[in-house]
This record gives sequence, C-alpha cells and structure tokens, in this order.
Amino acid sequence: MKALLVDHQNGSPVMRTGTFPDPVPGDRELLVKTEAAALNRADLLQKAGKYPPPDGESPILGLEMSGVVEQAGKDVEGFKPGDPVFGLLGGGGYAEYCIIDYRMARIIPENFSFEEAAAIPEVFLTAYQALFLLGRLEKRETVLIHAGASGVGTAAIQLARVLKDATVLATAGTPEKLTLCRELGADLAINYKKESFAEPIIEHKGPDSTNLIIDFIGAPYWHDNLRIAATDGRIIYLSMLGGSKIDSISLVPVLKKRLTIAGSTLRNRNAEYKIDLMRKFWEDSADKFPKQEIKPVIDSIYDWKDAEKAHQYMADNRNAGKIILMGM
Ligand code: NAP
Repeated sequence: MKALLVDHQNGSPVMRTGTFPDPVPGDRELLVKTEAAALNRADLLQKAGKYPPPDGESPILGLEMSGVVEQAGKDVEGFKPGDPVFGLLGGGGYAEYCIIDYRMARIIPENFSFEEAAAIPEVFLTAYQALFLLGRLEKRETVLIHAGASGVGTAAIQLARVLKDATVLATAGTPEKLTLCRELGADLAINYKKESFAEPIIEHKGPDSTNLIIDFIGAPYWHDNLRIAATDGRIIYLSMLGGSKIDSISLVPVLKKRLTIAGSTLRNRNAEYKIDLMRKFWEDSADKFPKQEIKPVIDSIYDWKDAEKAHQYMADNRNAGKIILMGM
C-alpha cells in the first residue's frame, strides 16, 4: 500500500510517500481503506524520534482516521465491508489502509463527511477523559480550558458546555482563536499573551473560583492556576507545551484548597481502557453530533502529499482546531 514514511537520512526527519506492506486484520480487527487522517502533536514528536509507537503498533504515523471497511475479522460484530467508519488508532493513519480493533471504531454519524469524522477521535476522547473521568466535572461547575482553540481545547469547551452546562473559561493567543472559543461556548476567553489569565478570572468570577483546570502549558501557568483554583479543585495536565520545570513551588495552596493534581496520556493506555473510554464517550455524546450540538472544528485540509507543510503549520501554532490529510 501507499504510505507516508519518515526519512531520517539527511539529519532532520522528513516525510515522503512510499510503499509499506499491506496490514492484515486480526480476528477482532477491521481493515479500513483510509479516506482522511487527522494530525496530532504526537505525530510531530514521533517524526522527530521523541515519541516511539507503543509495542505492537504500526510504525507509520497517524492516531486517527476515517474510511471504509474493506474487510472484517471473523470475531468482528456490528461492521461489514462498505461501512463508513472512524476511530482512534495506536498508529498507522498516514497510509492507504489501516487496521483498527472494531471496538475502537464507530459508524460515521449521519451527514458527516470523512474529514469531519477523522477530526473526532483523539481530541474528543482526550477531552472527555480529562473533563469527566479524571476531572470529575459536575453540573454547572466552572472549568478553565487552556489552549482553548487547540484541537483538544475546542472539543473540551463543547463537551463541558453541552454535557454539564458548565461555565467555561478559555485562554488562547490570537483574537481569531478567542472568537472561536466564544463561538464554541466559552463564557470568557482570555488572550494570555496580553495579560495574566488569572486577573480577568478573579475580576469576573473571584479568586478560588475555578473547579477544574485543563492545562497543556505546564510550568508557566502553575502559580496562576493555584490562585484561581477553587476549594476541592482539580488540575489536569495533558501536556507541557510551555515547559516542565517550575522554579519555586509552595504546596500550601494544594493543602489549603484540598486540590487534586493529575496528569495523563491517552496513547499509552491499554486497549481495554481505550475501548471503555470510547464506549462511555459515545454513549454520552453520539446523539449530539448529528444535531450539530457538538461538532469537530476543522482548521484546514491538506493533500497527504503536503503532509510536511501541514506539520509545519501545526508546529507554528497556526491552527485553530484540526488539520486533516486526504487523498491517500
Ligand atoms: P493543537 O491543535 O496543535 O494546539 C496547540 C495550541 O497550544 C497552539 O495552537 C497554541 O495556541 C497553544 N500553545 C502552544 N504552545 C504554547 C505555549 N507555550 N503557551 C501557551 N499556549 C501554547 O494541539 P492539540 O492536538 O489539541 O493538542 C494540545 C496538546 O495536548 C498538545 O501538546 C498535545 O500533544 C497534547 N495532547 C495530550 C494528550 C494526552 O492524552 N495527554 C492527548 C492529545 C493531545 P495559541 O495560539 O492559543 O497559543
């Protein structure tokens, strides 16, 4: 099959189109003809050799896709050749064909295009896990979502608003991204490049007002997160885009406010966890997609031969929502 392969020969890694052995589906797997794949930051890291695929996963980049079932293993239930599907992968999305455990796949919602469906799995599952399983978001609580216009951020804003009627606060770095956060349901969108995000939150909501904080930035936000966190608040770390080392930490607010601070990754969770996560997410939100109450946000669509340009666009922080590759 055709696939995007990473060429390390000239120092810096570059993707090129090449051929790779066709994947063979196991008894519980679907062989899918890929129609669209979506980019993730993890792809950039994997390409740079900093995020190797977990054991047993395809070495090809690509953590999510949509496409058409070509073949179903003998123990697969509920899918047949010709079905339009989307799902989360351990790897292998940047290729003409991929394989997926049928329990991680879902039929594409009514009236959804392949590109829209490919934009769902990674960011919505990550956001769902952070908000509800780790962050225990309750009805009408206040949640702050950093990098609100990121793929995960756009999913988290919508899930928090639609599923829990939460008050949603978001940070982002450009006026266009702030507008997007508001359109998706953020009650307050703050340009972190212009001011400390804590000041407007304290002004509008008071100190100690935020029940849950979803953080992708890390070290630079530690102190301000603690200022606005409510008693019994939760802070969930999903990334450290701004750095991982904090100069001086006082644990006093952690004790005084009875905070829970947790971190998580999705990719290295085992298959049972991901299958269960997919089941819970889809039970709670499948009916919201056809009604457009929740929608994946697509920033741009690239021909798969331009995947390098798409990676650079993401590395430059220019996207608001998902970047899609098509035409495999
Ligand atoms: P994305 O769409 O590429 O968006 C990332 C955004 O973060 C950038 O566009 C930028 O927006 C903002 N940002 C980058 N560096 C920043 C900094 N130093 N300070 C403040 N904001 C910064 O990313 P994504 O695919 O949604 O993923 C978001 C993060 O979550 C990535 O780091 C990704 O690796 C991680 N992730 C983690 C998990 C997990 O399970 N732990 C799963 C999926 C993704 P602005 O212009 O607004 O600054």
